[in-house]
Amino acid sequence: MIPAQFTYRRVSSVDEALAAVAEHGDDAKLLAGGQSLLPLMKLRFAAPEVVIDIGPLDELRYVRAEGGEIAIGAMSRYHDLHRDPVLAEHAPLLAHVAGEVGDQQVRHRGTIGGSLVHADPAADLPAAVLAVDGVLVARGPDGERRIPAAEFFQGPFETPLAPEELLTEVRIPAQGGAGWGFEKFTRRSIDWAIVGVVVAGSAVSLINMGGTPLRASATEAALADGASAAEAAALAAEGTSPADEAHATAEYRQHLARVLTERALVSAGR
Ligand SMILES: Cc1cc2nc3c(=O)[nH]c(=O)nc-3n(C[C@H](O)[C@H](O)[C@H](O)COP(=O)(O)OP(=O)(O)OC[C@H]3O[C@@H](n4cnc5c(N)ncnc54)[C@H](O)[C@@H]3O)c2cc1C
Repeated sequence: MIPAQFTYRRVSSVDEALAAVAEHGDDAKLLAGGQSLLPLMKLRFAAPEVVIDIGPLDELRYVRAEGGEIAIGAMSRYHDLHRDPVLAEHAPLLAHVAGEVGDQQVRHRGTIGGSLVHADPAADLPAAVLAVDGVLVARGPDGERRIPAAEFFQGPFETPLAPEELLTEVRIPAQGGAGWGFEKFTRRSIDWAIVGVVVAGSAVSLINMGGTPLRASATEAALADGASAAEAAALAAEGTSPADEAHATAEYRQHLARVLTERALVSAGR
């Protein structure tokens, strides 16, 4: 449980972080909340030569309402999001989901940026950001680019971010009066979801039902055609390929997806 030797660098601005990743490229890893990176390093699944600590970047720790959108700095911690008044008013789904991640310690350290870049298919916020059609803003040597969430999650722990890029912001539409629901089935309260479901208006996304967070498109199409919550939820597992392992069989996960989708739709008022 002791990580391989590495050089630690602490940066105090986005520009300094970008210069550091440009210098070290593939040999470096950014450290945000450390809730995924440090366990991986201790298990020696990750052994970066240089760890660049972006913890001090308070310039990336904000939530702002901008027109019809909410801009969330990548270094905002789950605890920040759960308690944020702007999110509570304009995007209560995100605030709620952030409050359901892990335990208190994880929520006080883990960041939205770290969760999205880590791209664990069992994680909660990636599915929530996918459900609300969020856009991820990255900065790199060629400037800034915006990547829709639907294009960001490419596989388990796989995104289009280059090692020289920093995720700086997440932009989501203000939810208005749209109903929302979140259901997550875990073995213990602090665990990652065996399966989870996010409903945002007429969008439904699934946690841990494949290699990435997924939109339940058959359910969404049925809702658009006027199906009831029960009828639409019966289609929630269509097109999914969940893991079949010791914690849950694929068949059990598909059953959970249907049950949880109906519950989430009902709590969203569908
Ligand atoms: C006990 C425990 C329980 C947990 N339970 C849950 C759970 O129920 N649900 C859930 O969703 N998650 C859970 N997690 C994972 C947690 O959400 C992590 O915090 C999250 O996955 C990573 O965020 P971080 O800020 O800690 O990132 P880090 O661990 O610091 O980094 C993760 C990865 O992202 C990269 N990175 C971080 N920030 C940036 C950035 N701005 N730009 C580019 N790259 C970046 C890092 O280089 C690294 O590769 C749990 C973790 C623990 C330890």
